[in-house]
Amino acid sequence: MVKSNCLFSPTYESPRGLSICDLFAKFSVETLNVLYKTPKMNQRTQIFIILTSLFFSCKQESNKQVVENKTNAENEITIVKKTELVYDINFISNSFDFPVGKPDANGYYNAQKFQENMHLGDDWNAVTGGNSDLGDPIYSVANGYVKYAQDYGSGWGNVIRVIHKMQNGKMIESLYAHCDTIIVKEKQWIKRGMKIGTIGNVDGQYLAHLHFELREDLDLPIGYGYSDITTGYLDPSKFIKENR
Ligand SMILES: [Zn+2]
Repeated sequence: MVKSNCLFSPTYESPRGLSICDLFAKFSVETLNVLYKTPKMNQRTQIFIILTSLFFSCKQESNKQVVENKTNAENEITIVKKTELVYDINFISNSFDFPVGKPDANGYYNAQKFQENMHLGDDWNAVTGGNSDLGDPIYSVANGYVKYAQDYGSGWGNVIRVIHKMQNGKMIESLYAHCDTIIVKEKQWIKRGMKIGTIGNVDGQYLAHLHFELREDLDLPIGYGYSDITTGYLDPSKFIKENR
């Protein structure tokens, strides 16, 4: 922002977030400085200087904005791609349970299995049907580290993403979507069987259920929940049964 109390001062604060008014004020200060120093210029030269100053002033700021945007984008990639988590050995994931009906999915059924209709996860519903499972507990399938716990919006609703490191060093991610509530916090270490949230229906978009994914690629974006390309995804129920 331009310091308004010193018209002829060439000192400006940060260019971040400059508005059209700020740009105009900045251009005015620079132009007035030029005109003040050369009082005998003819009118055509003055207009030329004004237009040139405005052009370069705007161009300079737009270049700065491009650099800032690029930096932000690079930072985002760094955050998403960063999997060099210093994993606490007290939270190694020795064994896995089902995320509902602790620990064996008692009282629940998998209404849409992995790759049924190109589904990338399992849809867990209570056998009692409808919205009867709304608010039921969701449990962490294993010890782990909460890397994401937020409302993602759109069709996802509240999403919890947990990183698990196994004894063989392999790291996988569990993802719990459409949660009615989130109980854990990001960067929290959690134990297998801990209640981390409750089953939801994303403000009535669906009948209440838990959309549950397991991923072996920790750098995948949240995605769409459906695809016949399963690279980086695991069949959740198959994996859990093999790693009890
Ligand atoms: Zn689903």
